[in-house]
Amino acid sequence: MPPITNHLPTADLQALDAAHHMHPFTTNDELGDKGARIITRAKGIYLTDSEGNEILDAMAGLWCVNLGYGREEMGNVAARQMNELPYYNTFFQTTHVPAIALAKELADLAPGDLNHVFFAGSGSEANDTNLRMVRTYWAQKGKPEKSHIISRKNAYHGSSVGSASLGGMTYMHEQGGLPIPGIHHIGQPDWYAEGGDMSPEDFGLKRAQELEAKIVELGADKVAAFIAEPVQGAGGVVVPPSTYWPEIQRICDKHDILLIADEVICGFGRTGNWFGSQTMGIKPHIMTIAKGLSSGYAPIGGSIVCDEVAEVINACEFNHGYTYSGHPVCAAVALENLRIMQEENIVAHVQNVAAPALKEALDKLGEHPLVGGVNVSGLMASLPLTPHKESRAKFADSGTAGYICREHCFANNLVMRHVGDRMIISPPLIITPEEIKIFAERATKALDATYADLK
Ligand code: PLP
Repeated sequence: MPPITNHLPTADLQALDAAHHMHPFTTNDELGDKGARIITRAKGIYLTDSEGNEILDAMAGLWCVNLGYGREEMGNVAARQMNELPYYNTFFQTTHVPAIALAKELADLAPGDLNHVFFAGSGSEANDTNLRMVRTYWAQKGKPEKSHIISRKNAYHGSSVGSASLGGMTYMHEQGGLPIPGIHHIGQPDWYAEGGDMSPEDFGLKRAQELEAKIVELGADKVAAFIAEPVQGAGGVVVPPSTYWPEIQRICDKHDILLIADEVICGFGRTGNWFGSQTMGIKPHIMTIAKGLSSGYAPIGGSIVCDEVAEVINACEFNHGYTYSGHPVCAAVALENLRIMQEENIVAHVQNVAAPALKEALDKLGEHPLVGGVNVSGLMASLPLTPHKESRAKFADSGTAGYICREHCFANNLVMRHVGDRMIISPPLIITPEEIKIFAERATKALDATYADLK
């Protein structure tokens, strides 16, 4: 057997992949005879596959490669840190400079009194931390029964037992006996799919008030926290109506419920501000971070925690942590990512240049007969496909149109993911207006071909 490198024929690599590699969220049928697409390198917003295709990645990997691919500074910092201190832990009264510097940088970037960071290796781990942290917080304050957590249907908070339980994806709950007890899910503020004839504002208010109803049902003295993404991502880019978040904030304040904003997708510029909480005008007690923290160059996540919660948690021994909490190489890479983002004014680029250009392109794509509307916040967006534009009707066999469209995207050298029948767009934040034009041309071709197939 020759060494397994990029030089092997694609079919051989695919056969080895199918034989030994179990893929997340994928069936063997989906891989099919074609095998998996093999990505060999990437630069800027483009991926190259083993057949030499140059593919525009309008998903930034999994919503994470905010800086774009191939930034040598990131690799150099990783190599330097590997050679100097590849690993040490932050348990048992030890620390190291990358973790100290990154925690300080995040405290400076985060709004309000979110001044403390508990590191994890991923968004899932960080949400597991949050689950235990909010329960421990209330227990330390003499209220151990204040332990229930309210989340939303169709939310995504990760794939571990705890974080998938916090999430509201029923197809995930069906496997492995989830959710764990003490987690409740209310409706999502998805006006496009569920708002019917209501105005978006009335619908937003109605969905927010489900939180109050659930708190009253459980008893405020039993509810520890509400967790939500400022803009729901994996659920299909659900941008809440303007009435939603102010009402949620009011309800959390009134009932003394901790608010956890899951910023794993929204954080680090995606919505046009450093954090989605700023875009939505909310004041969380804890923010979950991952993905854009390192632009996906190294696996790192964490929880940014407010003074009050941190004071209580730091005063007890919080029996929680991961071998790789604050991993020095990942922390150094994340710090470099944040340095580049600031030096190159990436957040201002999103707000002033890229987001308006994307909005214009999407509004045009929204005129396509197959597209029922445009959901967009900054550089995260979805285009719901519909058989009947005026009524925002759903296809009878949900997911088929989206799957067909995704395949046509691939055929046109474009990565757009589909969530059901919604096409998802979340490009690297460095994308330029010229590149957005190329995206729109390829997306139009894919939509036209899908439309023709469905006729
Ligand atoms: N939270 C949100 C909002 C996410 O979108 C994701 C991943 O997509 C996660 C948490 C889980 O992050 P990870 O895959 O790094 O565990």
